[in-house]
Amino acid sequence: MPPHSREDAPPHRTPRWIALGWVAVLTVVAWHHVPKAHANHTHTGSNQLHLSTLHGNNGTSTTPGDQDEQYCVQSRSTSINGTQMANFIEETLAKLSTIWDGTANWRVDLWRASKFCFDYDSATRATIEYEYHIKDDFYEVSLCGGDYSCVVFDNGVYDGSHTHYKWGYSYLQTEHVNGYNTRARKFINHETGHILGLMDPSYNGHCMNSVMHNDLYASMGCTDPVWYPTASDKSSVTRIADRTNTW
Ligand SMILES: [Zn+2]
Ligand SMILES: [Zn+2]
Repeated sequence: MPPHSREDAPPHRTPRWIALGWVAVLTVVAWHHVPKAHANHTHTGSNQLHLSTLHGNNGTSTTPGDQDEQYCVQSRSTSINGTQMANFIEETLAKLSTIWDGTANWRVDLWRASKFCFDYDSATRATIEYEYHIKDDFYEVSLCGGDYSCVVFDNGVYDGSHTHYKWGYSYLQTEHVNGYNTRARKFINHETGHILGLMDPSYNGHCMNSVMHNDLYASMGCTDPVWYPTASDKSSVTRIADRTNTW
């Protein structure tokens, strides 16, 4: 089943009615949205689902700044070794030849936190921009809806032009990533694309060479097996970072 970008049910930090309100808004937007044919697309308008740090880059070569993106990893499955998974995610995001890290002239600057998410005190954890949680089934907490991996945003802030989010969560199902293989990287890169503001295909046949529009969406006719962020994926994230995204 395809992964899903869910904007509902933040894990534990925002009253649920606020999140449901956004879902209502987004549903309306989605119905009236007419994307360019076969074009990669982003969240646009007054509410944009991406990390608030995406527009800046202020770290050094050895230390993340508050405009960089720190992430932690948390295994919530007894069958997933947290360190092994964190190593695999870090490799996928930042160490292979085609990666998200460095996108938009290093405004995407991904830093792995040294500890697992649950091992931080809440004040320190609040400074970490996003989290990967691996769990056997997110259905029980109503996050991703059964078979899906998904992304959830929380702590929206208005920057003068749009609202974006200080915290993002990538919920990955154990079955999607426990092969530590190309398929697992495909899910990690896809859900990270959501963290960076990209959307899923919005209609049947909305396919292209994109980790967001690949064969995870075979149900919508997409067949490209690409598992890494492509040039068009990166240019779309750059448009978000530049605030020039209009589709
Ligand atoms: Zn998706
Ligand atoms: Zn923004």
